[in-house]
Amino acid sequence: MAADPRFQVTNLVAVGDEVAVVWGDGHESYYRGEDLRRACTCASCQGERHLFGRATLPTLKPYAEGAFHPVAASLVGNYGMQVHWGDGHQYGIYRLDWLRRACPCEACRAISSQNDQ
Ligand SMILES: [Zn+2]
Ligand SMILES: [Zn+2]
Repeated sequence: MAADPRFQVTNLVAVGDEVAVVWGDGHESYYRGEDLRRACTCASCQGERHLFGRATLPTLKPYAEGAFHPVAASLVGNYGMQVHWGDGHQYGIYRLDWLRRACPCEACRAISSQNDQ
């Protein structure tokens, strides 16, 4: 599989309440910490839904203070990004291809809404 520069990260840094990513094609993305944390795919954030199958137990745990504050961000292998949060959480891994497609900038949102049509 050829490496696609759009899904490679050349720089990654937590700035304030955002995570900034610079991609291999030069594009820059800024993700709000709150949006990223709510999208966390780790077992402790989302796993219960699967454990209980169709049970309707609410899995919404209140977020601790600092939960939406990214303290640091790092790459996991060449496929993912891991964020250390202000409440100590750090288990979620965000796939880079998902992250790029979730870029909230206007240009990317315009592209993905075109693809939806
Ligand atoms: Zn999590
Ligand atoms: Zn973008």
